[in-house]
Amino acid sequence: MAAENNNTQAWQALDAKHHLHPFTDTGALNQKGARVITKAEGVYLWDSEGQKMLDGMAGLWCVNMGYGRQELIDAAYEQMKTLPFYNTFFQTTHLPVAKLAQAIADVTPGDLNRIFFANSGSEAIDTIIRMVRTYWVTQGKPYKNTLIGRENGYHGSTLGGASLGGMSGMHKQGMPMVGGIEHIRQPYWYGEGGDMTEEAFGLACAKALEERILQVGPDNVAAFIGEPIQGAGGVIVPPANYWAEIQKICKKYDILLVTDEVICGFGRTGSWFGSQTLGIEPDLISMAKGLSSGYLPISAVAVGDRVADALETMGEDFNHGFTYSGHPAAAAVALANIELMKKENIVEYVAKDIGPYLQKKLRETLQDHPLVGTIDGVGLIAGFALMKDKTTKEQFPSDIDVGYICREHCFNNGLIIRAVGSRMVMSPPLVITHAEVDELCEKTKYCLDLTLESINQL
Ligand code: PMP
Repeated sequence: MAAENNNTQAWQALDAKHHLHPFTDTGALNQKGARVITKAEGVYLWDSEGQKMLDGMAGLWCVNMGYGRQELIDAAYEQMKTLPFYNTFFQTTHLPVAKLAQAIADVTPGDLNRIFFANSGSEAIDTIIRMVRTYWVTQGKPYKNTLIGRENGYHGSTLGGASLGGMSGMHKQGMPMVGGIEHIRQPYWYGEGGDMTEEAFGLACAKALEERILQVGPDNVAAFIGEPIQGAGGVIVPPANYWAEIQKICKKYDILLVTDEVICGFGRTGSWFGSQTLGIEPDLISMAKGLSSGYLPISAVAVGDRVADALETMGEDFNHGFTYSGHPAAAAVALANIELMKKENIVEYVAKDIGPYLQKKLRETLQDHPLVGTIDGVGLIAGFALMKDKTTKEQFPSDIDVGYICREHCFNNGLIIRAVGSRMVMSPPLVITHAEVDELCEKTKYCLDLTLESINQL
């Protein structure tokens, strides 16, 4: 590591000079210098200073099977040697993409039998926007084109994804957003439920969908979209009755139901898809991240028979797609990833063993901490709120960025978890062991103690 140590400053300077980072205050970062990540193995990362860190975020909610998996590396290498690229536009296909489509159809619920490929979650979402609108045109209802999403929902960063998501900070930049999109309130009971019971709040949040549909006119609404559990919004687990009500409302008004499974998909919640864990029967699903465990960029939309049949019989091209839709190397890696997940029974491991273990351990370790207001999560996704006064649910004033303070302590103490406002979130690789979960929880507690100290010193 010694040689690398000497290079850190030079690498940071190089990065600062030419690299604009996503979702980053470039000026502030360049003052500080980016951390240079140099290697990874299992659930651990190393930086150029030789610091080892437990990656409690699985990269960016994606490295589900952990780092350094030879099966995935080999799949990419072999495919690149044989056929590094060919497109799927020219009435052509290749084996990795055809096999992957089948493998995805096999693990998706219900009649989600046809698969459209893209490269990122955002592109999958843009695909869905165009696909559901096209679907209603085929049904003779071109006016049925409004999509309804949720405040604080995240659906990506392209213009379509940012518009459909409910992140106000994103809506402010790059105005105007895409039209024909509405947002309803999020089902965040702890933060927004007031005096309501969880059940009453769940019902009220679902009712908000019905009210909006009636306002816009059922004949004008194409689809409702939501993450089964909001991820980037802070790991918001909805009340237990929420999704069943949403499903009923979509059925009642003949509105397509879309679940964005970019985070919840591929075992994260203890089922192949979060829709299964939460009892949702979607018409379309978007997926990315865990599809290839993040080893290569690939995303997909799983399309139910109703929409897929309409597209298949509309008698013209669906004028949408990407050069790298179904990229052979990415498809080969995703296929190897699904096979590896099956071979290692990873979904069952999350459902029955390590998921419940993390959820229990987190609560045992953090519940009584003075900063921790609520702990939420299912399987290997979790979040908790940092509160000034947990008994009265008083938040820290806006000039104290408690999440950032906590995240910095974690980063400096060998743990990567992420701050979303004043909520801390985690989604470790699904292959994490019991001992590594213990380390994750203990380190989190230690860093919460440091956070409290820092705040008391302000
Ligand atoms: N949808 C959800 C639910 C996501 O969490 C994300 C990424 N965090 C996206 C879409 C966008 O994916 P990408 O960053 O790959 O475009």
